[in-house]
Amino acid sequence: MAPMFRRPVPLRALVLSVGALAVPVVAVLAFPDWTQGDQGVLVWLTALVPAFLLAYYRGLRGVALALAGGMAVLALTQVAVLLAGKTAPDWYLLLAVVAIYVGICVGLAVFAEILHRERRAAEAMALVDVLTGLPNRRHAEIALDAQFAAAVRGVPLAVVMFDLDHFKAVNDRHGHEAGDAALRAFAEVLGANTRRMNLSARFGGEEFICVLGGADALAAVAVAERIRAGIAAQRFPWGALTVSAGVAAYEDGMGSYEILVATADRALYRAKATGRNRVESAEPVVAAAPAPLPASEPAAAAPPAAGHGETVLVIDDDPLTLRSVGRLLQRAGYRVETTEDVDTVLRRFGEATPPELLITDVMMPQMNGLALADRILAAHPQLRVIYLSGYLQKEVSAAHLPGGVTGYVAKPPDPEALLALTREVLDRPLARGSA
Ligand code: GH3
Ligand code: MG
Ligand code: MG
Repeated sequence: MAPMFRRPVPLRALVLSVGALAVPVVAVLAFPDWTQGDQGVLVWLTALVPAFLLAYYRGLRGVALALAGGMAVLALTQVAVLLAGKTAPDWYLLLAVVAIYVGICVGLAVFAEILHRERRAAEAMALVDVLTGLPNRRHAEIALDAQFAAAVRGVPLAVVMFDLDHFKAVNDRHGHEAGDAALRAFAEVLGANTRRMNLSARFGGEEFICVLGGADALAAVAVAERIRAGIAAQRFPWGALTVSAGVAAYEDGMGSYEILVATADRALYRAKATGRNRVESAEPVVAAAPAPLPASEPAAAAPPAAGHGETVLVIDDDPLTLRSVGRLLQRAGYRVETTEDVDTVLRRFGEATPPELLITDVMMPQMNGLALADRILAAHPQLRVIYLSGYLQKEVSAAHLPGGVTGYVAKPPDPEALLALTREVLDRPLARGSA
């Protein structure tokens, strides 16, 4: 995995290195008398710049390269001086320059190598879940972002979200150790059932994800079913364990891997609700949807984007987004409520005067925004909702997102676009069938 994190040497550093090497060459050729004196050692100090720069970007190899380059330049310069016959080189001075140069480079190389090794180890650790040895959520998100880009270009992509069934009870009845052992056992089943080119990761506490590049929904269901059966067949000292899974495949119009994951997560909720120990597929959402709506673009001849005191409830686990969106809408004339808590939202929509609009983040630790909307929709099929999501790679078709009237804004939201969309989602007539 090292090459993924190899730092490119920026052009700036290369230009600086070449410049730094040119300084003594020009100085020696232009002012031979001055540079052959004792003070001449000073101009060669700039030749150390490439060693420092390349040590930072390339470690030991970088220093070796800089040392070889510096030596070559020094030798060629002296040959030029000799051939020009301007002055005889001061051999002691030259020796001193070489000794200082090599000494500093060796020291630098040792330091650079130690730091690089530690950084590589830290980078590897930052992507691995310690308990199971599987890639962690961060790693999964890096892979998702890359695979989603490929999916936008036409490579199939499916994801499976897993959540162990009644796992809290395993911990409660048999202890945390038993729980940890079960997590490791499930990780092994995952590893054994996914090909190397696919990524299986621990996504959260007892949630796991398979990112299946090149797979369609059918293939993903087969993988998920194998894994479900695999863990169900295992016997632990304390009994058995099952898992529920939700499958979703990339569809044009999803726009961001967050929507893909949230779609799989919705299917997972359905698997839980319909009895657990089962695999559910997300319904193909985009194909069934009406023509896509432009995402986060104000409609032509947009009405003034001001609010008329409508109540808007905003939920996001990121307090900064929450604050900025809240303030923006408040200033525009809406009554704004903000929260980071899913239960607060559910409670508010259970009250006699629920908010007129929900603005929700897509990826939240408690529950994803699509699943949250599903929960509210059960009682409020006319729910108006705007989804906020980052990692946007392509335009989103908001039409397939759950809700009576829906909109979509990329994070960080553009204030004008968000205000225009808020107005538009509040004013748009309800879609047929959702009233
Ligand atoms: P459901 O079937 O609905 O998923 O029920 P559940 O009990 O699995 O769901 P819930 O999300 O309430 O419980 C998840 C539990 O997973 C809670 C927490 O104690 C446990 N858990 C999370 N991470 C770890 C871990 O690293 N080790 C252990 N032993 N338990 C963990
Ligand atoms: Mg869970
Ligand atoms: Mg669970």
